[in-house]
This record gives sequence, structure tokens and C-alpha cells, in this order.
Amino acid sequence: MKHSYTKVSMYMECPAKKRYRYDERLPTTVSSAAARGTEYHARLESAINGSPPDDEFSFYNSYIGQLRTLGAKPEFAFALRRDWTVTNWDADDVWILGKADVWVPGQPLAHVQDWKTGKVYDSHEKQGEFYAMSLFSYVPEAREVKATFIYTDLKKSREWTYHRDMLDSLRSRWTARIERMERDTACAPTPSYTCRRCPFSKFKGGPCIF
Ligand code: SF4
Repeated sequence: MKHSYTKVSMYMECPAKKRYRYDERLPTTVSSAAARGTEYHARLESAINGSPPDDEFSFYNSYIGQLRTLGAKPEFAFALRRDWTVTNWDADDVWILGKADVWVPGQPLAHVQDWKTGKVYDSHEKQGEFYAMSLFSYVPEAREVKATFIYTDLKKSREWTYHRDMLDSLRSRWTARIERMERDTACAPTPSYTCRRCPFSKFKGGPCIF
């Protein structure tokens, strides 16, 4: 079974939402905000790959130049087995899949970065933790992985640094979360304030009773 951060975090938010999206594969519409985010990611990827500076991101031109100098890899796809060792994206033994917006596999400090359009959410800290923990497997010599979130609309950033000595407890915690999700065949609805933006809510014509 393959899992991503989005899937696990969706399960943590509401098991039924994860079931509708990933198990039953019910269709959803792409919001204009999500479409804009996808477009921005593509343009920022091009900029790191050497395309001419994009006026809209001129605020980040110098930073993007630094990333290029450091050999940053945009849209870096990672894949891990259940024992957190590296495998191929298409392999049968993939357990965790993910794509980092920017990955700088430095030593002793590696760096993963995520572009965000829109607001700051507390959940981004969990996402940074998940990505940093996963990417430690790609740099066995790194002592630390820094996770940075850049909010392009707000022109602000947040970052957290994870040390290798935290890795065992991080992996244990995320393994427990993922295995709980794997064991849960009912995936009951857990209503909360997030129902109002859930595409599966009854108010949006979805199958959920909430
Ligand atoms: S409407 Fe609420 S309870 Fe129902 S699936 Fe969505 S988030 Fe879960």
C-alpha cells in the first residue's frame, strides 16, 4: 500500500474524507486557488531550472539564484520502503511517496522547501516534519534537515530544523499514524469546522451525512 503526506494528513483530519478521496476515488473539482497554486509551482520550478526571471517572482530572484548555485532539485520525487530505506517511485515495495518542491541534499545540513500560495496553516509544520524525516534517508551523512515554507502571496517564510538524533522517534510516530490508518477499514466521518470546505459534505452534494 502506498501513502503520501496528503493522504495521511487527510486521514488525521477525517478518516471518511480519506476514504472518499483515496479508497473510493470519488471525483472532486479543482478549486481556482488550487489551480493557481499548481501554475505557480510550475513557474517556480522553471525558474530554478534556469528559465529567465519571472516578473511576478522578482522578490525571490536572488533566493532562486542561490538555490541554483547550491544545485537544488525542484519537484524532487522520493520513495521509501516500510523500513524507511530508499526505493524507486515505481517499485512494488514503495510505502511512502512524496514530491518536494525544492530539495538541496547538502551535508551536514540538507534543506527541503515548499512554496505555498495562500494562507499560513498550523498543519504546515507537520508537513515539514514529514518531508524532513523522509528525506533524511537520501542523505545518510546529513546531521540536520531544515524545512522551509515560503508563502509567496504573503512574502514571508517559516522554517524548522530536524536533527538526526530525532529521527527514530519521528519515524516511530509517523509509522504508528500510518499503520493506524492501514488498520482502519471503517474510516468513520469525524465532523469538524473543516466540513464546510469538504467536497464530500452533504452541503456540496457529497455522500457524507455531515
Ligand atoms: S463532511 Fe466532514 S465528516 Fe464528512 S467527510 Fe468531509 S470532513 Fe469528514
